[in-house]
This record gives sequence, C-alpha cells and structure tokens, in this order.
Amino acid sequence: AHSQAIGAPKIPSVRWQDIGGLQQVKKEILDTIQLPLEHPELLSLGLRRSGLLLYGPPGTGKTLLAKAVATECTMTFLSVKGPELINMYVGQSEENIREVFSKARTAAPCIIFFDELDSLAPNRGHSGDSGGVMDRVVSQLLAELDGLHSSGDVFVIGATNRPDLLDQSLLRPGRFDKLVYVGVNEDRESQLQVLKAILRKFKVDPSVCLSEVVESCPPQLTGADLYALCSDAMMCSIKRKISRIAEGVDSELSALTLCSEDFRQALSGLQPSVSEQQLNRY
Ligand code: ATP
Repeated sequence: AHSQAIGAPKIPSVRWQDIGGLQQVKKEILDTIQLPLEHPELLSLGLRRSGLLLYGPPGTGKTLLAKAVATECTMTFLSVKGPELINMYVGQSEENIREVFSKARTAAPCIIFFDELDSLAPNRGHSGDSGGVMDRVVSQLLAELDGLHSSGDVFVIGATNRPDLLDQSLLRPGRFDKLVYVGVNEDRESQLQVLKAILRKFKVDPSVCLSEVVESCPPQLTGADLYALCSDAMMCSIKRKISRIAEGVDSELSALTLCSEDFRQALSGLQPSVSEQQLNRY
C-alpha cells in the first residue's frame, strides 16, 4: 500500500531573490548543502555531512528557504508534513518513512523537507502513545537518516516551531545536527528587503516610497505578515479599480497598480502574528 501523503519529488521554482533578508541563514544553508554536493570528495577528506534543522516562529520563511536551496542547486524537493506520515494501521507509519527516503534516493540529488518535525518525533516515552507507534516512527527515521551517509546526494532539512519538543536523538551528529534559527524581521532594513522580494511579483506605482511603508510598520513582523500586507494592499487596489469602473472613469480590471493609499489602508489593519511572549520561547 502506497501512502497518498507522499508526493513525487520535483524541482521547485522558488529563487533566492524571492526571499528577502536572511542573508546569514541563506549562507549557512548553502554551505551545508551545496559544498558537499559539488565536492563529494570533501566527504572522504573529513567534511561532515549534516542535516539542517530550521527552527523559529511560523511564517518566517523556513519552507521558502528549503525550496530555494533545491531550486538553486538543481535538486528535486520532496516535502512531507510530519502528521501526514502517521497512520493508524500497524506498521504503515514506518513504511511511509521508508517510502519517503526511497523516493528521494530515486530522485537524487534530492532534498527531503520534513515540516512540523516535532509532530513526527515527539519525545519518546511521553504522551499517550498507545502501542509505541511514535517510538517505532522515530527509530525508523533515525535508521534512514544514518543510512544516508552512504549516498552522498540526499539531504534532509527539518522545520519546527517547537524545537523544545524534539526527540534529542534526532539532533545527534550526522542527523539534524545543524540548527539554524529563522526569526522575525526586527529591523527596518530587513523588513524592507522582504517587502521588496515579495513585491517583485506585484506592480507598484513609482510614487510609493517603500522605506516609508516599513517605517509605519509595527516591529517584529514575519515574512508572512509582510506578504499579508501586500495582498491587503492589492485588495484595496482592486476595490478602488472596481468603484472607478462603476463610476465610468475606468474600463478594465487589468493593469492593477499598488499606490500609497493602498499601503496606507493595508497598514491600518496590520498586526504582527507572533507575540513578544512567543518570541521569548526561542
Ligand atoms: P510555518 O512554520 O508556518 O510552516 P514557514 O516558516 O515555513 O512557516 P513560509 O511558509 O516559508 O514560512 O512562509 C510563508 C509565506 O510568507 C511565504 O510563502 C512568503 O509569501 C512569505 N515569506 C516568509 N518569509 C519571507 C521572506 N524572507 N521573503 C519573502 N517572503 C517571505
């Protein structure tokens, strides 16, 4: 029985320039994945292969980063969400994990992205894990991770909002042993970079001053918050256009351009999705 949860690996289309800010994080990811991929001989010279764990609040770009590194290194990308792999039938969860790694090897070079890794591997021996399903899932995952060292071109990236819940055995050397924090954008410069990256896909009136837009933003915004700001501005632009058409001063819905007024309106409804209290967890 094949799980429907596991899709086919394919090369994504997210580029580095679609991701604003996060310079240091991008560099660490590239060093971890691209270097051993392009120079496999370094592995026999003692370069240690690592699995990456991206951790931090929701909406900060973890998925985007994992996809972009696959695109930029021309690798296929296999994304699995932890909860999707868990199956109530005896043995099926472990089989799902085997299948993930087997598909990845066939599609190598490949990045396996484990989103919500904490849900796949909550601390063993805890919670109401009847029948020890989670124990077996974690054991299977560890076996697969350890087996990766013989094949040089399958990499794993995990993502979690709750690194504190992870089974410590997953973090040992050679497994998810490189921990990279992906946080909120706290300074104006990184907010501006994220905004610019997002707006590559929108049409913005030249009169809009993006530095002013970020000056009016609350601090500590995630990339997802800034994306919400842009799509709200887009909604304002659409409404404005529709009422102009109703007034008869405009004729078509195409050629939508975001102007300062759209951003002003969108800003009035902007709320940071991650609270100070949540941030203190990391
Ligand atoms: P989760 O923990 O909820 O899975 P995540 O950290 O994986 O969240 P993403 O799915 O990568 O977050 O980001 C959500 C959306 O926010 C992206 O699709 C993108 O539109 C926007 N976004 C986040 N970070 C950035 C960034 N640095 N630059 C541009 N867009 C971003």
